[in-house]
Amino acid sequence: MRLRFDDGVEQFREEFRSWLAAHRPTPEEMAADPPRSTGHAPEWVRRWTRQMFDAGWLVPGWPPELGGRNAGPIETFVVLEELAAAKVPRTTNVQGLGIVAPSIVDYGTPEQVRDYAMAILHGEATACLGMSEPDAGSDLASLSTRAVLEGDDETGEWVIDGQKVWTSGANYADFCFLFCRTEPDLPKHQGISILLVPMDAPGITVRPLPEIVHPGEPDLNEVFLDGVRVPAANLVGRRGDGWAMANGSLAHERGMVWVSAVMGLEESLATLLEQAPPLLDRMGPEERAVATDAIVRIAIDTQAARCLGQRGFARLARGGSAPEQALMKLYASDCRQQVARVAADIQGPDALELGAIADDGTHAVDEPRGTWMEQYFHSFANTISAGTSEIQRNIIAERVLGLPRG
Ligand SMILES: Cc1cc2nc3c(=O)[nH]c(=O)nc-3n(C[C@H](O)[C@H](O)[C@H](O)COP(=O)(O)OP(=O)(O)OC[C@H]3O[C@@H](n4cnc5c(N)ncnc54)[C@H](O)[C@@H]3O)c2cc1C
Repeated sequence: MRLRFDDGVEQFREEFRSWLAAHRPTPEEMAADPPRSTGHAPEWVRRWTRQMFDAGWLVPGWPPELGGRNAGPIETFVVLEELAAAKVPRTTNVQGLGIVAPSIVDYGTPEQVRDYAMAILHGEATACLGMSEPDAGSDLASLSTRAVLEGDDETGEWVIDGQKVWTSGANYADFCFLFCRTEPDLPKHQGISILLVPMDAPGITVRPLPEIVHPGEPDLNEVFLDGVRVPAANLVGRRGDGWAMANGSLAHERGMVWVSAVMGLEESLATLLEQAPPLLDRMGPEERAVATDAIVRIAIDTQAARCLGQRGFARLARGGSAPEQALMKLYASDCRQQVARVAADIQGPDALELGAIADDGTHAVDEPRGTWMEQYFHSFANTISAGTSEIQRNIIAERVLGLPRG
């Protein structure tokens, strides 16, 4: 069986490919000013995001006034695939473009869309996502950051106190899409609201959390909020509706994330296959047999990940539901972890040297980077963020397989 798109789609791909070749940021300008976190948009990113917006490629499925061209899901898939193949990110502010802007478009007022969502889409502002707290991660509804309204709905102010953690990009972001408790007397799922909070508001302290790999360029942060005031008009959607909106917000993220995840996996496999022969030659027969077996297993898993993603996507594109979508995050992030682990194993003690490959900043968002060991460490980011693998298994058990809650 040969999977292919029809001629119209391939024509669309060609149109985007030539536009991309003519307008893309050059590897030299990307390398000269690499992003320092997912909240940081260097000058070339800001210009590039705006160029994509103006040409209707930024969010192809949206109307032109929001940076799209009313394209269907297959065309959107093609654009994401071509960007990943060309190693060009749409933006560095993935949470801003992938979650925050779509959520404001879905639930915000026209003024919020104008001042916050459009600023992201025009490449003029970046956003961070303030959900997790020290005691609220998988169980987001336990969050305790509190916002109290002083005055009325129109002219009053929200006063916010609390702490967020693991806030990607908060060290450079312009504003935060902040989840906080506004109705402390209601059951926990009903008392959460979302506020738009400028990161330079008095009372905000950001403390970066250095990571094992690249400790000098932290992306994760603690954010402390101490009597932070924002206008009443910064409430997104209805007061107390934050839980329902959180599910909608993350759905934006989950839709097509698998495309870049699978392409990253395929790239890792290709590198492993290229590097493996001399490393296998150094091994004794038994060790070589075990290593070869592990590589073949990864090759099969990679192929299965692509097929699973495409099958689910085909169902969605036809308007049906796709249980495969629920499997993709778990499966692709697990495969990424396995390929890095097997490759580091085969490489032997040399894999332990960190920082051996310089990062010049010329890569798409989900592209594997650094040594195999660094990729292995980094792979845990994908098995934890946006719902841990254990939580994904719970979701599959309950919603896909229909098993009773444990
Ligand atoms: C790279 C990265 C980027 C992130 N970016 C952001 C961001 O921008 N904004 C933000 O708000 N958050 C962000 N996070 C936080 C992320 O959403 C949380 O880490 C995640 O939801 C897990 O929460 P937790 O860390 O509190 O772990 P916990 O929820 O405390 O879980 C601890 C362990 O227990 C397991 N566990 C918990 N509950 C269950 C259960 N019911 N059944 C089975 N096992 C369970 C978990 O799987 C995990 O292994 C990021 C995290 C990472 C790693």
